[in-house]
Amino acid sequence: MPSFETDNLDYLGLTALRERLKSDLNSLLYPGKNWVPPRNGVTDTVIIGGGMCGMVVWLSLTTGGMRNIRVLDRAVEGHEGPWVTYARMETLRSPKNLTGPAFGHGALTFQAWYRAQFGAAEWEALDKIPRVMWMDYLRWYRDTLNIPIENGVSVDRVEPEGDLLRLTVSGSTTDTILCRKLVFATGRDGIGGPNIPKFITQLPSHLWAHSANKIDFSVLKDKRVAVIGVGASAIDNAAEALEAGAREVRHLVRRTEMPTINKMMGIGSYGFTAGFAALSDEWRWRFMQYSFATQTPPPHGSTLRVSKFENAYFHFGKETIRIEQSGPGAEIFFADGTSYFADFIILGTGFVIDPMARTEFGDTAGNILLWQDVYKPPKDEENNDLGRFPYLNQDFTFSEKNPGTAPWLSNVYCFNYGAAASLGKVSGDIPGISEGAAWLAREVAAKLYSEDVETHWQAMLDYDKPELVGDEWVSTELEQNTQKGKVA
Ligand SMILES: Cc1cc2nc3c(=O)[nH]c(=O)nc-3n(C[C@H](O)[C@H](O)[C@H](O)COP(=O)(O)OP(=O)(O)OC[C@H]3O[C@@H](n4cnc5c(N)ncnc54)[C@H](O)[C@@H]3O)c2cc1C
Repeated sequence: MPSFETDNLDYLGLTALRERLKSDLNSLLYPGKNWVPPRNGVTDTVIIGGGMCGMVVWLSLTTGGMRNIRVLDRAVEGHEGPWVTYARMETLRSPKNLTGPAFGHGALTFQAWYRAQFGAAEWEALDKIPRVMWMDYLRWYRDTLNIPIENGVSVDRVEPEGDLLRLTVSGSTTDTILCRKLVFATGRDGIGGPNIPKFITQLPSHLWAHSANKIDFSVLKDKRVAVIGVGASAIDNAAEALEAGAREVRHLVRRTEMPTINKMMGIGSYGFTAGFAALSDEWRWRFMQYSFATQTPPPHGSTLRVSKFENAYFHFGKETIRIEQSGPGAEIFFADGTSYFADFIILGTGFVIDPMARTEFGDTAGNILLWQDVYKPPKDEENNDLGRFPYLNQDFTFSEKNPGTAPWLSNVYCFNYGAAASLGKVSGDIPGISEGAAWLAREVAAKLYSEDVETHWQAMLDYDKPELVGDEWVSTELEQNTQKGKVA
């Protein structure tokens, strides 16, 4: 195996790293040749979401010569995604050396960005990527590539208009945008929303929050805090509450044991990334359902961040069935007949995939084909949450539940966590997103090209620039020769 022992990245500085990237991109003739015939007043592709997925999709499309793109994000600049909003872990779970959104460019990796500033020794010493630093890297990524994200712009509704899509937006200079293709790079809850169990909906809102909400942890000082769940977000929120001086923090966990093995991470490989989508429904369901059933454990460091507090508790086998307001707090009732009084409840219940929870599609959301419409799993593999994932086409587009009722869905690409059941882990977490973005760009290109095939054909007919001008050769008469090869 070839190995390159040394390079000169260390302490290069970000300005020089940017120059190196530019030089690499120039050598690769970036951006690709602009080949999509323009249509007046129409954007070829709109990407909703300027987080890491939206950005790498932009890079991928641009590399492929699709330049008429708009990237819209309702977040303020530099605050896209969860990293500096509601993510509360100290470091990322992902290993530091994953290449993530680098799209094959070494100078665009987190490692290059880090070593260019802090050198090899610090890189070696770094355990996990600090969460806020990851956002700094993403900001550098955006600046360096000059990605024209329009911040503060929300896509509120998508509707068909002929063979195009009309987006109703707020926060932009225009109220609507007309486009040919639309990419939902909308994140972990990008085709669903926070999971809010029914048992909490009647409780006054000052007594509870979901982990994805803005929470003022300082008001939890000296309070009894119940955290429902024990996944990564549940743990991170418990840590914040403990560090803010909560009297006690209790994880109330339905399952009887702590999940300890990260199955999906364990089998991650290029083979899984490339091969998952081609598997049968049975196999795709089996992999995903098993990963759901075994659950992803909270990260090691995050769990220690909580358990080092003596007033942190983990209670398993505590399935919440009802919550009632009680005095200044709430009483939580469990399936085993016991109960517990808390002053504040944090839901660490994660997110659900459910197109109906998104406002962008309006009523058409009900027309999106889901796994539960297509596949009936064996009894021991049933899973309602997985059943609500969209059953996507192999090009990331949505399918209609009733053919012919919403054909425009075939122009809408689901490049977020919701694609996982159909296409694998290529459009959400850090590991597979460059592969996913390359795949998506190829599919968008293929569709744009075939829709314009008449124009491309005409261009071929019209193309008349000679490569030879006529003085490169001389035409002569063919003279008769003999079979023996001697010229007569
Ligand atoms: C708490 C938490 C911790 C995580 N930690 C990790 C980790 O360590 N490693 C890992 O690989 N993954 C992690 N993830 C998963 C993480 O969400 C993704 O890796 C990453 O954020 C995905 O990037 P993205 O671009 O798909 O989504 P996001 O970064 O969420 O970006 C989506 C963007 O879409 C915008 N948007 C959504 N809807 C609209 C709309 N209608 N109009 C305009 N803009 C819109 C949002 O404002 C947002 O900025 C974590 C997720 C959470 C919630």
